[in-house]
Amino acid sequence: MVKADKRIVRVKKGTEIECKGWEQEAVLRMLYNNLDPEVAEIPEELVVYGGIGKAVRNWESFDAIVRSLRELENDETLLIQSGKPVGKFRTHTAAPRVLLSNSVLVPKWADWDHFHELDKKGLIMYGQMTAGSWIYIGTQGILQGTYETFAALAKKHYNGSLKGTITLTAGLGGMGGAQPLAVTMNGGVVIAVDVDEERIDKRLDTRYCDVKTDSVDEALLMAHEARDKGEALSIGLLGNAAEVHHELLRRGVKIDIVTDQTSAHDPLNGYVPEGYSLKEAAELRGSDPKRYTDLSKKSMAKHVEAMLEFQKRGSIVFDYGNNIRQVAKDEGVEDAFAFPGFVPAYIRPLFCEGKGPFRWAALSGDPADIHRTDRLIKELFPENEALNRWIDMAQEKVAFQGLPSRICWLGYGERVKMGLAINELVKNGELKAPIVIGRDHLDCGSVASPNRETESMMDGSDAVGDWAILNALINTAAGGSWISFHHGGGVGMGYSLHAGMVAVADGTDLAKERLERVLTSDPGMGVIRHADAGYDIANETAEKHGIHIPMKRG
Ligand code: NAD
Repeated sequence: MVKADKRIVRVKKGTEIECKGWEQEAVLRMLYNNLDPEVAEIPEELVVYGGIGKAVRNWESFDAIVRSLRELENDETLLIQSGKPVGKFRTHTAAPRVLLSNSVLVPKWADWDHFHELDKKGLIMYGQMTAGSWIYIGTQGILQGTYETFAALAKKHYNGSLKGTITLTAGLGGMGGAQPLAVTMNGGVVIAVDVDEERIDKRLDTRYCDVKTDSVDEALLMAHEARDKGEALSIGLLGNAAEVHHELLRRGVKIDIVTDQTSAHDPLNGYVPEGYSLKEAAELRGSDPKRYTDLSKKSMAKHVEAMLEFQKRGSIVFDYGNNIRQVAKDEGVEDAFAFPGFVPAYIRPLFCEGKGPFRWAALSGDPADIHRTDRLIKELFPENEALNRWIDMAQEKVAFQGLPSRICWLGYGERVKMGLAINELVKNGELKAPIVIGRDHLDCGSVASPNRETESMMDGSDAVGDWAILNALINTAAGGSWISFHHGGGVGMGYSLHAGMVAVADGTDLAKERLERVLTSDPGMGVIRHADAGYDIANETAEKHGIHIPMKRG
């Protein structure tokens, strides 16, 4: 018998369904997909990505959710509280089949200490963003966002290409693992430091990273050679960033761009303190979590000090959404926020147009279904060169994990166009099975996260959480298939509130109606949120598309 703690589940594919409708089947398959070993980082522990971002609270809850989904009627809604099914009510056919709330704590209690206390009692779960809301699609999910960020950086600082530059980063986990490929897709060289060799190997296996080494000398040799030849190359360097970065500074190495995606948002489970092997770190984590956290935060402070020094020496440095600056600041690094977050630096103009990480997955499991939707993107948006280039590169470089899927950033108007066209393809039989359409919570109108998505808002409204709640409410009213609301994703407890939305295109007229509504309201929230904050691009977008804003500025 398989030991409970080593249990592995794999996503189901094909056109036979075991639920009472495709919508419930879609939820079921996406839950399995999140936990498929091809997709999840530590599937046997139910951890999907991002430190301890889990899909469900425990295996007992997993089984109960699976049972409930199999029994769920087409006019019922299942409720999930932090990864555990807690109730079911009759609603109606156009209502979501599942509503989820993950890791939400009352503000005064919203810190890691309270979370861990409740977690130990089995009362809560950390849902990250798409882990607990069942729309994680593996590293590709973050790939295009990371590609867009480095492309925006290249456009701003290097005439559109990273050719001839060296980027230094750390963290090759579920999300951070997209960094090497995103940099090489933009023509650059990247040294990506990770303390865990298995994580580096996983990126090599999925072709996200080109080579690995445990030697700083060798990494530099390879990096310089590739840079000088103008070639793209990604190097996974085994080491601890809090140490390696200082070593590079000591040697006076010139680095052009510095960022980081270690799981700094979670000092206990996501970051390894300097001087500790993985094994020693795991032991200390278990025996003395308080000391572990202290050491981990100190290392992060040192890590940020190195990033600040690189900035002083002329590197372009930005925070990549893991809250490492906040930890360093709390540890006494006064100028920790001297380098910007990636959203104000590169992404906000896209958010103002309702652009964000639109994604879809083929429930048939057949890659041909995704290839058909790739062609669809080109048919619908022939004028968008960057998008077409992305689709070509993704087809060539991205290995599918679990259910075949695709991601691309689409804006207001574009998402609904694509969603309805996909529904049409399902209806006319060009696709073998329905398609699940969703997005990351890191989107234009779904997050309040003052150190990330809503950092430095024009009107100072960074910490206003109403927008994320309104996003979940309007998408529920509009009839998404599963809607979620989370706390603490990306940047950790106390620092973010965010909502998720997934809709199923099953080719029916009802799906068409629901998709039309939800793929309009969802990016529309991004436009009105940024228009309200005073951004011209958002006001122009609202004007152009006739989005009604009762108290329009200007
Ligand atoms: P993950 O937990 O899967 O991976 C973290 C990686 O960091 C692991 O491979 C780990 O070995 C490595 N690591 C930990 N300490 C280290 C150290 N001291 N030196 C070198 N390597 C170390 O997490 P993930 O899903 O990749 O996410 C990484 C971070 O990025 C999280 O904080 C997450 O919230 C954030 N994030 C950012 C975005 C974005 O768009 N910018 C999106 C999602 C997540």
